[in-house]
Formats: sequence, structure tokens, C-alpha cells
Amino acid sequence: MGAIDALKGVGELVKQVHDAELKTELLQRLIAAQNECAALLEKNGELRDELTQVKDQLTAATKKADVRKNLTFADDVYYLSDDLGKRAICPACLESKGATIPIKTQCGDRYPNCPLCRMYFEGIYKPS
Ligand SMILES: [Zn+2]
Repeated sequence: MGAIDALKGVGELVKQVHDAELKTELLQRLIAAQNECAALLEKNGELRDELTQVKDQLTAATKKADVRKNLTFADDVYYLSDDLGKRAICPACLESKGATIPIKTQCGDRYPNCPLCRMYFEGIYKPS
């Protein structure tokens, strides 16, 4: 039996009280208990939402930590080593967004650069 059902049961019992003063007092306390119960249920919903957000943040942080285990820092860039091999990662995007954006030299580019933030790595990063 939940708290709401229990309070409804008390309300039914109060109907059997014949003393008007006692009945009024019991009804006032019952209403107060129902209001408190409703507030607790609302707070419970808020806490559930907050718990979901914290779980999502923990999952994201764990993923980020897992990625960082595979990173090394050299020549002012990060190198990510995983199933796809070793590749240079943009340090600016990693530090600001936690994103692992590979540094590339694409057709028309003079220097290796980050396709997301467009940071160039002239003289710092030498593609292997
Ligand atoms: Zn970048």
C-alpha cells in the first residue's frame, strides 16, 4: 500500500467519527499529510531527473577517461592509439570539447589542420 492509498484509507475512517471538532482536526491533519505527500512525490521526480542527468554525465566522463588512457602528448599535439592505429589529435578540440578530432592534410591545405576548429599545425606536427 502506497502513502496515497494509506491516506485515502484514513479519510474513509474519518467519515465514521461523529465528534465534529475531532473530525475537523483529523481532516486538517489529513490534508496536511496529503500535501506533504504530494510535495515529496514531486521532489522524488526531480531527484530521479537529477539522477538521470548525473548518470549521463558519469557515462560521458567515463568515455572521456577511457579515450584519455589511449592518448600520449608529444610535439604539442595528442596522439591517439587505438584499433584504427596511431594518429595526431587536435589539442584545442580535445581540451575545450573533449572531442578527438584527427589532424589532417586535405587537398588544398598548405599545412596539417583540424577540420573542426581549423587550427593549423605548421612546424609543430609532422605527419608520418
Ligand atoms: Zn580542433
